[in-house]
Amino acid sequence: MSAIEDILKGEKLRYRMVNVLRLPACSTIRFRLLNANIEQYMWPYMAGAIETGTWCKVRVGDGDDCDPPNRTFHFSSENPERYEIVHEATQMLIWATHVGQTIPTGVHEAAAYLAEKLFTLYSGDSHNLSNQPINHTWDDHWPNSRNL
Ligand SMILES: [Zn+2]
Repeated sequence: MSAIEDILKGEKLRYRMVNVLRLPACSTIRFRLLNANIEQYMWPYMAGAIETGTWCKVRVGDGDDCDPPNRTFHFSSENPERYEIVHEATQMLIWATHVGQTIPTGVHEAAAYLAEKLFTLYSGDSHNLSNQPINHTWDDHWPNSRNL
């Protein structure tokens, strides 16, 4: 693949993420799960951060995960499912808004799963409700975090 094609795929992914995170179905999602707190204002905040590229980067390739230390989302294609975007964005949001707090991996994963399911309910993507939780490990999401 040429460098130009890579850039265009990355831009397509960025555009898709911004649009999904600005949907009313996203900005309706708010919950507290143990010490992880998701508020409605966080979604447009994250959309803006991705749109401007000042805070969050997106990359096509290297699997589906978010890499908070590098503030980068990775998706294996430029056209991930909407719930997958919500899942990864939730984990980035928790990381960004709970600085200095210890959030157990299970809470991270449960919060991301809850957010993706709420999104599915609110958006009408009901055919995705039967999906099983994405089987993420800590290393999927935070491949570089062990050195932090
Ligand atoms: Zn996950």
